[in-house]
Amino acid sequence: MNLLIRLVGLVVALVLAVPAAFAEEVRFDLVLRGGRVIDPESGLDAVRDVAIVAGRIAAIEPGPLPGTRELDVSGLVVAPGFIDLHSHSPTPLGQYYQVLDGVTTALELEAGAFPVERFGSQIEANARIHFGASVGYGSLRMLVKHGLRVPHLIVDRPEPVGLLGAWTVVRSLFSPPTAVFLEPATAAERARLRALLGEGLDAGGLGIGLPLDYISEAVDAAEIRMIFEVAAERRVPVFIHIRRGINGDSAGLEEALGLAEGTGAAVHICHISHNAMRGTGAFLRAIREARARGVDVTTELLPYNAGSALISSAVFGRDWQTIFGIRYADVEWAETGERFNEAMWNEYRRERPEGQVIHHYVKEAWTREALAEPGVIVVSDLLPMITEQSKVAPHNGAFSRVLGRYVRETGLLELEDALARMTLLPARRLEAFAPAFERKGRLAVGADADITVFDADTILDRATYRDPYQASAGIAYVLVAGELVVRDGELDEAVHPGKRLSAN
Ligand SMILES: [Zn+2]
Repeated sequence: MNLLIRLVGLVVALVLAVPAAFAEEVRFDLVLRGGRVIDPESGLDAVRDVAIVAGRIAAIEPGPLPGTRELDVSGLVVAPGFIDLHSHSPTPLGQYYQVLDGVTTALELEAGAFPVERFGSQIEANARIHFGASVGYGSLRMLVKHGLRVPHLIVDRPEPVGLLGAWTVVRSLFSPPTAVFLEPATAAERARLRALLGEGLDAGGLGIGLPLDYISEAVDAAEIRMIFEVAAERRVPVFIHIRRGINGDSAGLEEALGLAEGTGAAVHICHISHNAMRGTGAFLRAIREARARGVDVTTELLPYNAGSALISSAVFGRDWQTIFGIRYADVEWAETGERFNEAMWNEYRRERPEGQVIHHYVKEAWTREALAEPGVIVVSDLLPMITEQSKVAPHNGAFSRVLGRYVRETGLLELEDALARMTLLPARRLEAFAPAFERKGRLAVGADADITVFDADTILDRATYRDPYQASAGIAYVLVAGELVVRDGELDEAVHPGKRLSAN
């Protein structure tokens, strides 16, 4: 905890304490009464009252503390709100399901956005939870190669910029713009990309988002080194989806760790088990060893054993069966759940390139291995939820899934450890360059009142691959900036306290 937060705490305490000496009664805005309060930073795990004033935590005491409003949360766990570093759904529906999974901050750090201040246009006026994005390198490349501005590659539409953009739109009637994925950058383009990265970071981008695997054929050694150099100069991490090798191949990881070590940049390896596959243990060891050498490296896990992607994704143009170690029958057409055979696959790839597939390729043992590794952060990798007609993977239950299945049912993780991976550790990944996160991810006087209250005996994900639009069970209350967004397990449709978070 830094000096600023201590000072804020002190001021809050003084403001509250002084009138208390003179007046009969001081009332906090809201008191959560008698819950099991767990703070991964201080190690507190005890029955306490938590008092909130003006969106901040004002007191944590054995109580009873007096509140203008009081909620009896006895028998429930009171934890910092979950911070999701990896969420691709800045949509009303995405925020709806995430808050019902205990998430109070959902960030797009892997794909990122550009311009970052345009990220989340669908939710900014009515955000239920906090949101923010890194500088999205794919968006930068789209701008430089095609003159198309796509703030968020996953949910926003391209807008043409200048002559190049107009030309790309005309040409796209005949063939899609593919240079972004395939064509190396010239020295001049590299200089422009470097300048744009700086612009995005100046605008408050939360690090650099590098979905490298999707642009793997285009990005050469000089370009990727430039990205890491900018990250090092600006003291921000690169959030990277590393180049994917054949099942278990670690070349992509070694490239990322080598660049981090060579340039001094911090790096965060996205969804470890989904890239490492049968090499999960070796990847975790390589990360541990790099950290011991002084590399600032972190990683994350989503607790699901499949992936999903467009059937037209570049990886499916390569030898994907060997890469993933799967066959046609391990892949389903997301819309209907049909499993593929070769003829259907070839037809759908040709005729329906915009369709999603779910490919079941991660083994449960790899997921458990990554979850058991100290310090691995829990994320959702939530895919865009646009309407309840669109099929997506059930990542909207990620946090409840870990707490229900891996803490309660199988005992793989201790509750406090699991909570640290959802709160304190993601906040620490960001706070060195984004001070807003010094007040998140912990329950302490002066911290933001982003709080998740759940029943440790019943918390569980309910979303499935067949029926993803189901809220998790066991989340009782969720506070965002001190406001109750979820009350008695029900979302309050009228409450929208979510704010855009940036590094500034
Ligand atoms: Zn990814």
